[in-house]
Amino acid sequence: MDLVFDVLIVGTGLAGIYSALNLDKNLKVLLITKTKVNECNSNLAQGGISVARDSDDIEIFIKDTLNAGKDENNLIALRILANESSFNINKLVEFGIEFDKNEKGFEYTIEGAHSVNRIIHCKDSTGKEVINALYKEIKKRKNITIFEDTQLIDLITDNNICYGGAVLKNGTAYNIFSKVTILATGGIGGLFKSSTNYRSITGDGIAIALKNNVKIKDLGYIQIHPTSLYENKLRGRRMLISEAVRGEGGKLLNLKGERFVDELSARDVVTKAIVNEQFETKSAYVYLDVSFKSNEYIKNRFPAIFKECLKIGINITEKPIPVTPAQHYLMGGIEVDVYSRTSMTNLFACGEVSCTGVHGRNRLASNSLLEALVFSKRAADLINNDIENIELKKFYKQNSIKSLTAIEKLNKRIILDSLKSVREDFVNELVEC
Ligand SMILES: Cc1cc2nc3c(=O)[nH]c(=O)nc-3n(C[C@H](O)[C@H](O)[C@H](O)COP(=O)(O)OP(=O)(O)OC[C@H]3O[C@@H](n4cnc5c(N)ncnc54)[C@H](O)[C@@H]3O)c2cc1C
Repeated sequence: MDLVFDVLIVGTGLAGIYSALNLDKNLKVLLITKTKVNECNSNLAQGGISVARDSDDIEIFIKDTLNAGKDENNLIALRILANESSFNINKLVEFGIEFDKNEKGFEYTIEGAHSVNRIIHCKDSTGKEVINALYKEIKKRKNITIFEDTQLIDLITDNNICYGGAVLKNGTAYNIFSKVTILATGGIGGLFKSSTNYRSITGDGIAIALKNNVKIKDLGYIQIHPTSLYENKLRGRRMLISEAVRGEGGKLLNLKGERFVDELSARDVVTKAIVNEQFETKSAYVYLDVSFKSNEYIKNRFPAIFKECLKIGINITEKPIPVTPAQHYLMGGIEVDVYSRTSMTNLFACGEVSCTGVHGRNRLASNSLLEALVFSKRAADLINNDIENIELKKFYKQNSIKSLTAIEKLNKRIILDSLKSVREDFVNELVEC
């Protein structure tokens, strides 16, 4: 069965939803997700979103991001990120998102490797608040359709031009023809045995891009977050203990109760220190202690973390939290320009699946949601301008369910093999195909 839309967006995380909301209201847009709308990493984001506080902060913000990224960042893209940050945050406020405030305005917090407080947040559930508010807005838009449980399996292409995607929905195969296709399929955490990501986030966009010869960049730049909750028995994904806990004074302690690292160093530095400490003490975890803060403060500032830890018997107002590093984020991905265009005509990539180069080798905390906002908006603006001149082409493409299931397996093998070839050190951390 064939369907026709102006724009097909694959993924209902922040990058997908925000792209859709910025497209002209007269365009017929289809958003698809392989699971349910809320099952995306955007929904899990705790710490917040970075923003240049004012024009004086722009250069400092850029410098902090370069320092974290080992100067491997794409400076043009990074400048755009900083310059366009406050515009996009104001748009979120217009959409009704209520970031935490004090008497002076936003209540900015700080996280590792930021030299000033510039992270806005909704307590420790920023992602959930943002996604819920934007989703309400999406529901009001008559031009946007959402299909849940609809998995992109392949692109429909001809001569390096994208004409849509082949999907599998409730056991039925469809061709979705579109003038423009946006991949917003997120990262790769579901391919790792231990990750903070949803298990369903398995690098599908990158696998499909690889298969269709779309350029990929820095696939080996994988971020390991220093502090996920340590649980003896791993149930699905590891819960993140936000960097904001350290930003607000939380201390990392070894088994003897001693500090061993500056908690506000960049993520890679803190992760390395924890791995060393775990190795030396032959322990599977270290501690993150915030219990010296008042009960009221902890419950008000980190209500979600407090509740989740309590579920497994850890009262963080009384005890330190056992934490261990886990896969968290991919800095690399589908290579895009500053309008999120890939190397294939009429194919865009936004959010974690893309590689704008803003993060360099190591992402600065809370810059991911900002990247998704800034570059999805730029993609949407360009599409609004150009779409009139783009031809919609429908051509016969046969998809049998049997072959699609085989394609799905092949996609997984492609991405796993590519990861193994660029990061031999992670081979044992990856799931089996
Ligand atoms: C626990 C946690 C906390 C975080 N906290 C922060 C934070 O505080 N600040 C910050 O800046 N960043 C944070 N991050 C990182 C950030 O949340 C993500 O990088 C960002 O949300 C990615 O957004 P996205 O829209 O690109 O992808 P996602 O939000 O992951 O969405 C991906 C979407 O693609 C869909 N999809 C995937 N494959 C297919 C397919 N084949 N077919 C159809 N649909 C598909 C998925 O179903 C999903 O809807 C955090 C990440 C995690 C895991």
